[in-house]
Amino acid sequence: MSFSYFLNTPRPLKIVELDKNHKFILNDKNLKSILFHRKARNKPVCIISIAGAFRKGKSFLLNFFIRFFKNGGREGWLENESDLLKGFHWRGGSDRDTTGIFMWSEPFLLRTVRNEEVAVLLMDTQGSFDSSTTMKDCASLFALSLMISSMQIYNISQNIQEDDLQNLQLFSDYGRLALESTSMTAFQTLIFLVRDWSYSYEYEYGFKGGFEFLMKRLNISSSYDLELKDTRNFIKNCFKDIKCFLMPHPGLKASTNPYFEGRLNDIDPLFRIQVVNFIEGLFQEKLFQIKEINGEQITTTELFEYFKIYCEAFQD
Ligand code: GDP
Ligand code: MG
Repeated sequence: MSFSYFLNTPRPLKIVELDKNHKFILNDKNLKSILFHRKARNKPVCIISIAGAFRKGKSFLLNFFIRFFKNGGREGWLENESDLLKGFHWRGGSDRDTTGIFMWSEPFLLRTVRNEEVAVLLMDTQGSFDSSTTMKDCASLFALSLMISSMQIYNISQNIQEDDLQNLQLFSDYGRLALESTSMTAFQTLIFLVRDWSYSYEYEYGFKGGFEFLMKRLNISSSYDLELKDTRNFIKNCFKDIKCFLMPHPGLKASTNPYFEGRLNDIDPLFRIQVVNFIEGLFQEKLFQIKEINGEQITTTELFEYFKIYCEAFQD
């Protein structure tokens, strides 16, 4: 294997990090290598980002996206059971191993129903609620991810708790303030992804059960106090579209065995079925979102300029 081969091997690249003074540092070189990649240059763009608490399987999940695209989304893309899950660095244990925002070095191409080619970018945001990152840093990282993405996955564990909603409100408020300074408006799609869902007898796995469950959670009951009402109204007004997906547990081998290497065989089949439903569901016309700014589609090259503007919006 030559050195240049290694350099060209697809991998996660750090594009944004926070310095000691809590300011964003943009890695121009890494970001340019993705946005100006020959496959992506000047194409409309869909940016899928995942954020939420650490050690909850975010990076792990992104690797299924990579696999989906590498197989051109063909049926059976998750069927070879002896394969290992590769891509973004994921691992067991409770120490954090990523800070900042990472992007997969290789853009993927997708055709819309209107036969338009779109570059799909995968983004991994790390830092939320983690002990060595301050709450302000968490809020700005999450907010930046919201500003950049066209489809934001909010990864949460087991349920949608009141504090998940409050955190989301805090992060989106932060992002909205930053956006105001750039005179841009609302965020696009938000997808609550509830991991280790264990009440499938009440709300079934997938988008349908998720939608029903979300309606119940975001519903405003007349008995709620003002704060609960406020949070819900705020969230509903911040996004163009909100979805929810209920995901089963991946099985004990994947979640607790220190020797688990990511072999598909070792992941609960029910989880694999729902991962397929999740990813294929996201790329259907109804859900798929191309990045827009103030109602206009933007291209990868334009996104590069917005990245700079957005990072600066936090610099005060
Ligand atoms: P991240 O910090 O959120 O990016 O988490 P990682 O993707 O690094 O995964 C942390 C650990 O959680 C790994 O050991 C994974 O095997 C495990 N894991 C992945 N998905 C799930 C899930 O849906 N549920 C549970 N309980 N564990 C998971
Ligand atoms: Mg991770």
